[in-house]
Amino acid sequence: MDLAGLVSLVKSAGVVGAGGAGFPTHQKINNQCETVIINGAECEPLIQVDQQLLQHEAELLVDTLETLVAVTGASRGIFAVKAKYRAAVEKLQQVLAGKSRLELFLLEDFYPAGDEHVLVYEVLQRVVPPGGIPIQVGAVVMNVETLLNVAMACREEPVTHKYVTVTGAVAKPVTVRVPVGTPVKTILQLAGGPTLSNYRVIEGGPMMGKVLVNPEQAITKTTKGLIVLPDSHRLLRSKHLDTRIVLKRAMAACCQCTACTDLCPRHLLGHSLEPHRILRSLSHNYTNDPAVVAAAQLCTECGACDMYACPMDLSPRLLNSAVKRELAKHQFRLPPGTEPLPHPERKQRKIPLKRLITRLGLSNYQREAPLTNNQFAIDRVVLELKQHVGVSCSPVVKPGTKLEVGQVVAEVPEGKLGSRIHASISGKVTKVAPHIVIER
Ligand code: SF4
Ligand code: SF4
Repeated sequence: MDLAGLVSLVKSAGVVGAGGAGFPTHQKINNQCETVIINGAECEPLIQVDQQLLQHEAELLVDTLETLVAVTGASRGIFAVKAKYRAAVEKLQQVLAGKSRLELFLLEDFYPAGDEHVLVYEVLQRVVPPGGIPIQVGAVVMNVETLLNVAMACREEPVTHKYVTVTGAVAKPVTVRVPVGTPVKTILQLAGGPTLSNYRVIEGGPMMGKVLVNPEQAITKTTKGLIVLPDSHRLLRSKHLDTRIVLKRAMAACCQCTACTDLCPRHLLGHSLEPHRILRSLSHNYTNDPAVVAAAQLCTECGACDMYACPMDLSPRLLNSAVKRELAKHQFRLPPGTEPLPHPERKQRKIPLKRLITRLGLSNYQREAPLTNNQFAIDRVVLELKQHVGVSCSPVVKPGTKLEVGQVVAEVPEGKLGSRIHASISGKVTKVAPHIVIER
């Protein structure tokens, strides 16, 4: 197979970054590169998908990485996995034996080890330029589940299912494989249901995930976790703050201790992002250095500043998010940066995951969520038309259309960035806007 052939299969199968980002994979792999890095860091607390896929699907993942390395002209392919995922590491060590172009890189247990820029630096000791992407330093980075979906695409099997860890205040934490579009409340029942009557659900990880407002919501191709928490949990409060309140609190309480900047993972890579200065500029209306505020565009909203670093419980992250939205409205983009030098104390300032979990108040929820092989009969799915970076897809089916699992239901408009969507169960289309509903 050549690169064009693989890109075509991956595009046709609707593969997107399954780790949460949702970038269309056919665009990402359509590059000659030096190194393909498989991101097995899974750095968000409680989520347990990739580490189990590495253990249970090691042969297929290794074969697929070999193919990727060959077609992209890379000199090596690297599985970057936390050393603490012992079962996965042992299995990979066995399967990788004798594969001269493939390697295993062991990561420490810190947050956010899975941030693409952080990961590339850990593995290659190269800093992706601020605002840039890994290919600028010769790397393509792909999440473990995405690699598995590439493997399926090579067999002409489209993305119809998703692996999700269901944990938190549920009877029996579990990692399941369910059709894309399965309603969240149905998936919670697969983990024995919530153990509380007043609860909220975070979609994704505790740090970067979003609190679901609609209990009828369904999972997408990027949902990695569903975490049930008591509705009084402090983690939920920090996700709900209004920007004006965040700003007022910052004006009253920020002591400019710089802890948010000192521990910011992107600042530590040498990026010009300094959250304490952005916060000072916004809360005191300083306008003499707009470049300081514009650097908010480099913020990944990882939450290290507000959920871990700040002693005053302030949120530079939410302010950065507001600045980013405003800059995007005016179509402002920071000029491309060059490869900066990381901070000399970066190594000492990494955030240990164990301490982060304690600070988030999640220690009680640190339980195994084993991957189950059970097949679940799902009767109804709700497919969002935008499950990826880019533009929304357009439905190519009508109410009443009968479908088999795997048939295309929505296409990306010609020439636009996006990824097509397939029926995740067999059944009849009952609705096509604002999303596609299929019922058995
Ligand atoms: S850590 Fe908190 S108090 Fe310290 S500078 Fe940052 S926002 Fe202000
Ligand atoms: S959320 Fe905070 S710590 Fe994370 S990148 Fe943004 S400013 Fe830095």
